[in-house]
Amino acid sequence: MDLGLKETRVLVAASSRGLGRATARQFALEGARVAINGRDPSDLEGTAAELSKDTGADVIALPGDVADPRVAEAVVQGAVEHFGGLDVLVTNAGGPPAGTFESTPLDAWEEAFQLTVMSAVRLIHAALPHLRQSDRAAILTITSTSIKQPIDSLILSNSVRMAVGGLTKSLAAELGPEGIRVNSILPGWTRTGRVEELLQAQSEARGITVAEALQTRTTSIPLGRMADPEEFARVAVFLCSSAASYVHGVLLPVDGGSIKATL
Ligand code: NAD
Repeated sequence: MDLGLKETRVLVAASSRGLGRATARQFALEGARVAINGRDPSDLEGTAAELSKDTGADVIALPGDVADPRVAEAVVQGAVEHFGGLDVLVTNAGGPPAGTFESTPLDAWEEAFQLTVMSAVRLIHAALPHLRQSDRAAILTITSTSIKQPIDSLILSNSVRMAVGGLTKSLAAELGPEGIRVNSILPGWTRTGRVEELLQAQSEARGITVAEALQTRTTSIPLGRMADPEEFARVAVFLCSSAASYVHGVLLPVDGGSIKATL
């Protein structure tokens, strides 16, 4: 199947590692031109060079912290100046810190809102005038299964990410008439660097092996394992492609069947 992504101009936020990087790489493999973003400029330049060498695609680095109110406009502008426009925006950011309601200080709520919700709002706000000029515009938000089924000790993620789900559905209604498709992926446990670090920390804290720590996370997943980042990325790229031209307003779990509810 031809995904029709050649020369498509794509911006993937928070993409020097993990789900964002895997998504940027998959777009590049499909012949898209890709702008990546992350907080550390030299790390990001390195990732852009690697992706470019690996895929032969035009990959540029646009550093900046997406939780910073000034960054979204600059990053979108950087992509538009380099590519001459923008067709696809993928919003993403690092996750808010783990914790229960009792262990989470009040200030952390506002920080989580800026990081998770306002980063997406600002990026979409900055990108919209350019997406309106595109004949294949798509927005993808990266959220979490936590917006359908809360995860223990992730009170911030469980709470603030739901706003991004609501934003996605609302934008689908508002932007659909203009031909701009808007969807979200709800990743389940996926073996990114961040998750490897969590497993390592859990094994040290509990005096168990990493394999045992992994097993505590995977027993409730019907497929019996975590995803590889590429399994997430292939779905992300499909949803943003013309092959998914009638898929709109969807909050799609890529979770190995972890969410047990029927709706
Ligand atoms: P990761 O830590 O492996 O990668 C995150 C990337 O985002 C890195 O490149 C990091 O440099 C960049 N980043 C972080 N904060 C940023 C900021 N403020 N501005 C710009 N760049 C920033 O994480 P991941 O596993 O790829 O997760 C990505 C998102 O998906 C997170 O919000 C995470 O909570 C969520 N999520 C992950 C999983 C999973 O199992 N991996 C599951 C559900 C949800």
